[in-house]
Amino acid sequence: MTQLLIEFKEQLLNKNMITMEKIISLSKRRGFVFPACEIYGGLANAYSYGPYGIELKNNIKKLWWEMFVHQREDVIGIDGPIILHPKLWEASGHTVGFNDAMVDCKKCKKRFRADHLINEFVKKDMEGNLEAMTEIFKKGEIKCPDCGAFDWTEVRNFNMMFKTRMNGIEGDIYLRPETAGAIFVEFKNIIDSMRVKLPFGIAQIGKAFRNEIIAGNFIFRTREFEQMEIEYFINPETKWEPLFKEWLKQQEKFTMALGAKKESLRFYEHPKEKLSHYSKKTVDIEYKFPFGFGELFGLAHRGDFDLSQHSKFSKTKLDYLDAKTNKRFIPHVLEPTFGVDRALLVSLLSAYNEEKTKDGDRIVMKFPKKLAPIKVAIFPLLRNKPNLVKKAKDIFNDLKKDFVCEFDDNGNIGKRYRRQDEIGTPYCITFDFDSLKNKDVTIRDRDTMKQERIKIKEIKDYLKDKLNEL
Ligand SMILES: [Zn+2]
Repeated sequence: MTQLLIEFKEQLLNKNMITMEKIISLSKRRGFVFPACEIYGGLANAYSYGPYGIELKNNIKKLWWEMFVHQREDVIGIDGPIILHPKLWEASGHTVGFNDAMVDCKKCKKRFRADHLINEFVKKDMEGNLEAMTEIFKKGEIKCPDCGAFDWTEVRNFNMMFKTRMNGIEGDIYLRPETAGAIFVEFKNIIDSMRVKLPFGIAQIGKAFRNEIIAGNFIFRTREFEQMEIEYFINPETKWEPLFKEWLKQQEKFTMALGAKKESLRFYEHPKEKLSHYSKKTVDIEYKFPFGFGELFGLAHRGDFDLSQHSKFSKTKLDYLDAKTNKRFIPHVLEPTFGVDRALLVSLLSAYNEEKTKDGDRIVMKFPKKLAPIKVAIFPLLRNKPNLVKKAKDIFNDLKKDFVCEFDDNGNIGKRYRRQDEIGTPYCITFDFDSLKNKDVTIRDRDTMKQERIKIKEIKDYLKDKLNEL
């Protein structure tokens, strides 16, 4: 009896909880994110962004570019290639060092991250030592999560870079595992062509690829993903701590602009003994996802490692001449990184609301207005009245020059409101019979569901004001 009560209570609580299942289902139902190649059975946690997903994604990237490039005088942007010179990955250490330790189940042939299984079953943190890990698997205490067998291969390292070929080039070519490399190799061109003075940053948005074993969780971890990164170059003699703190604050500000609440965030500083030899400090900004805290963005002090390595491997001087002191030196770098797909997941989770209204329950995506995929939806009250449809279409054709709009005459008005609520459209406009006489329309607010009448000629100014509010 008590067990039943507990279960009932949990069900009641879960009903209003935001779960990944709810987000995944809404994303598919409303055209935000689809599992890719579904007709062929899907492919390894790959996703396609649908019509509203791509609008949301573009708005997130635009917000980032505005905040970190256009609004700053010390950051400029570039766009480098996905396929870069193979020497670059030798210099950065990716060719030999970018590995995951893997183990295969001999029975079902599935491959797993060895460190993850050891961590889960033996509660041990063992990084790097392949022989010691193999020994643990030999003891027969670790069960295959898939088939339940205890029979494992040796633990081996697998490089996470995607290999490809290029006509006319000998040897292995890779898809970039991070965007940063494309920035460092253009450091000299930027110094030579732009009037940059330290400290300054180079920003880039683009795709990166990692051949990882994927544990799911929707778009949280995918093999093909998009990054927004900045390499911020500083004089090694300036105090870096205040700059580091300021970048972290800016990253937090961006996270809040996605709609995230402060209490969903926490900062994880990597312990000194786990940092790469060149790094002075690394902090992850973690978000409380329904499956637990996970890394969202990161900030690292990378010293002069990257420029020094590329200078050594390319035999090209990558230094900076300080005009005041006439000294040449290799700058140090702070590296704020952001994942586009994770940012989008956070914006979906933060926007999701289930509400009881007098007309029944509704799901409403309360995106910040800047991020909303569609800003205004325009409806004729009835689709079978040509004069209403024509006038509503005229308003739509005029508004679409200034706002991302949608015209909808399907089903009844209540259903159209529900649909726009789930897309997160801040304003809906209805043209009805009174509109013909009074030259006005009804505007409905997504969040308050309040409706007001305004004159058709005042719609644009009204929307401009409202959409500029936060
Ligand atoms: Zn197995």
